Amino acid sequence: MRLFSATLGTETNTFSPLPTSLEAYRECVFLRPGEHPDDAPRMCTAPLFVARRRAASDGFTLIEGSCFAASPAGPTNRQDYEFMRDEILGQLKAAMPVDGVVLGLHGAMVAHGYEDVEGDILERVRATVGPACVIGAELDPHCHMTLKRVRLADIIICYKEFPHTDQVERAGDLLDLVLRTIRGEIRPVMSLYDCRQISSYPTTLPLMRAYVDRVKAMEGKDRILSISIVHGFPYADVQELSGRVLVVTNADKRQADAVAEQLGQELVSMRGKTMPEFLDVAGAVSAALAFDDRPVVMAEPADNAGGGSPSDNTDILRHLIDREVGDAALGPIWDPVAVRLCFDAGSGARLPLRFGGKIAPASGTPIDALVEVVGLARNCWQRFGPTNVPLGDCAGVRVGGIDVVLIGKRTQALGLELFTNVGVDPRVKKLVVVKSTNHFMAAYGPIAKKVIYVESGGPLNRNYRKIPYARVNRPIWPLDEVTTPGLIL
Ligand SMILES: [Zn+2]
Repeated sequence: MRLFSATLGTETNTFSPLPTSLEAYRECVFLRPGEHPDDAPRMCTAPLFVARRRAASDGFTLIEGSCFAASPAGPTNRQDYEFMRDEILGQLKAAMPVDGVVLGLHGAMVAHGYEDVEGDILERVRATVGPACVIGAELDPHCHMTLKRVRLADIIICYKEFPHTDQVERAGDLLDLVLRTIRGEIRPVMSLYDCRQISSYPTTLPLMRAYVDRVKAMEGKDRILSISIVHGFPYADVQELSGRVLVVTNADKRQADAVAEQLGQELVSMRGKTMPEFLDVAGAVSAALAFDDRPVVMAEPADNAGGGSPSDNTDILRHLIDREVGDAALGPIWDPVAVRLCFDAGSGARLPLRFGGKIAPASGTPIDALVEVVGLARNCWQRFGPTNVPLGDCAGVRVGGIDVVLIGKRTQALGLELFTNVGVDPRVKKLVVVKSTNHFMAAYGPIAKKVIYVESGGPLNRNYRKIPYARVNRPIWPLDEVTTPGLIL
């Protein structure tokens, strides 16, 4: 038995001011066959990582293709996308014949000229391997589950958790189902329900937690092979943006339809109830200071690099400085030039530094302050679930009583290493501000005595009615009050 695996993925915010080129992939995940490290998967590479570990015990030969992934930002340059895609397709052609293909895709990638990148990849993979080969893909739930993809693949599985701590487990599920299909033990069929809604669904909040736990308990019974709750990625102006439910059963289309319809209707009934409460900056800081334990973790989703934001908005930091709040930490602010200046100045140096607030109008204005360099570290990492995420060179600077982490490679706050790399301990601070939507909860949830979500002036507006969509299929909630959810496959 021969399996091929490769990765190509990023989450494209079509409104982001940051273009994505091959350089962004080189900075993040750019691994040729055989180069993938054994310690942990990188962004979206869990299928290859898991397949490599299991090839010997499950009795198949793995042919490794390239793995390319970039931090979320704007659409990928067309030539660069085609270069990466064609490299993988060339590897697949050379690997033929194969019995199965397992792909690590994000699912919300847009390239210039390609609104549905993953649909394009699956179409070309199918054309290469033919109808008998089993194609499986693992996607992020913040994806666009287009009809094209579901028709072209045999099995698609999304991570269930948000924060995405279950990428390896879900890749294991995918591999199980692909292998069982190849062996003729099962015949997967898929149904897709479209909820016609745009929202956010952290699984750390009680309603979604209970829903996802119930979904997990349904799998493996009554011919149900897999259930994926597709959150959709709101910051993308693409036709098929929507919350959807994908159900895979063993040769039972009616059962797949029934389960997708039931769970889809439940998700529709949860509209407006799955997102946390947001406070404005002043209100959030007051609430944090009034709380009598530490640390209070304050999340800033509007400037989440994980959603394609620059991660250099200064609204909250400026407010903390103006209010002379001490005993606080904040990060990450992406500013490679300021990091360079801090390294030039050296550890312990005091210097006037201009940082943050540079990339776009929604970044706010730069901070000009006399700072002390409290920590410097090269080539840093932070941990996210089972994965390692690069931070580049990092500098910790103290402004008044606030320790700010400046990073060289743009990413969101995920692990505590973001702060500890530069000698700042978030566990002892009164207030810890993290630029992240909900992935921070994997590491910061356990140390936080209280979590507050704040709405800053960053570009990822939580009010989806304010996003200037032009291509998204209508009607869709909350842009439209009346919608027609239903089975679409
Ligand atoms: Zn995601």
